[in-house]
Amino acid sequence: MQRAAPQQFDRVLSSMCTKPHPAAREAAERFLATNPGDPATYQAVAAQEEDALASLGEITGLDEPHGYIASGGTEANIQAIRAARNLVRDDNPNVVAPESIHFSFQKAADVLGVELRIVPVDGDYRADTEAVREAVDDHTILVAGVAGTTEFGRVDPIPELTDIAHDAGALMHVDAAWGGFILPFTDHEWSFAHAPVDSMTIDPHKYGQAVVPAGGLLFRNKEVLDALAVDTPYLESASQASLTGTRSGAGVASAAAAMRELWPDGYRETYERQQANANWFYNELVARGYDAVEPELPLVAARLPEPEFDSLRDLGWRISRTASGELRVVCMPHVTRESLRAFLADLDDIARG
Ligand code: PLP
Repeated sequence: MQRAAPQQFDRVLSSMCTKPHPAAREAAERFLATNPGDPATYQAVAAQEEDALASLGEITGLDEPHGYIASGGTEANIQAIRAARNLVRDDNPNVVAPESIHFSFQKAADVLGVELRIVPVDGDYRADTEAVREAVDDHTILVAGVAGTTEFGRVDPIPELTDIAHDAGALMHVDAAWGGFILPFTDHEWSFAHAPVDSMTIDPHKYGQAVVPAGGLLFRNKEVLDALAVDTPYLESASQASLTGTRSGAGVASAAAAMRELWPDGYRETYERQQANANWFYNELVARGYDAVEPELPLVAARLPEPEFDSLRDLGWRISRTASGELRVVCMPHVTRESLRAFLADLDDIARG
């Protein structure tokens, strides 16, 4: 039987995932047959998870982090809303979030039976705080902001949103699934250190360079995590807060290993290199007359006519569009200056006809 070729990354410009760090890959292999869903039985991987959580706490400014390594940002976002719903217990709960929120919130609202109130963003693609203030009411259980949006790499005004949430008696959730390993090296106010945020999604399998699956869910207070726990009679462990039962020990161990290896210097170097690549790429597009959105984090969006976009795809470039139609290029750790140059050379060839 012929084996499929492994994923080639040199033309992947649209993904929020990347090549894992070699240390993460090696750790994943060692822990392949372990289940952190049953920590009393699988104690070695449970220790890895504690290590990973401690690192996530350091990265996000949380002294005593409560949470776990999830399957990804989707699970973490669903669980943050589920925890708020279980804790607040309202008859008619709603969640308020900007339109830049990841589509996992729609799944969360659907499975949890919670109303999702989407409010507009401002002219620079950030949550409009006035619109959020108008949308919250006595039934709001959670306000969500994004720290590194999926489409434009923008950071919502987290301290202001946190005030609005808490004034309404709701919890504040930050989705830093993508931005969490970049933002510590910027001036943005996004973390537990900047505002009394209640929960956060931060995914090691994105900019953290762990293997898939490794998402992160953090809570400031243990009581909020505990609102997720169910009893687990047949396991050695007594209760479980995660959404999935059996979990990937490979993901957990790889997250711990990646952060041991890369926090903080490796992540800082990656951010600086990739931000420089994004700035360079933006300037090259603008110099060619394309209407591009100035990158704040390593993600560039630009208007590109459909024939050009389709031809680039035909040449093997893995690219995608925002909901409003812009090309988006995510400068993940695997995206090199060389590959951006090759992309522009193809674009120039196509534009010349
Ligand atoms: N949140 C944000 C901001 C994201 O960009 C993504 C995915 O790109 C997610 C959540 C969902 O993460 P996952 O695909 O790991 O479930």
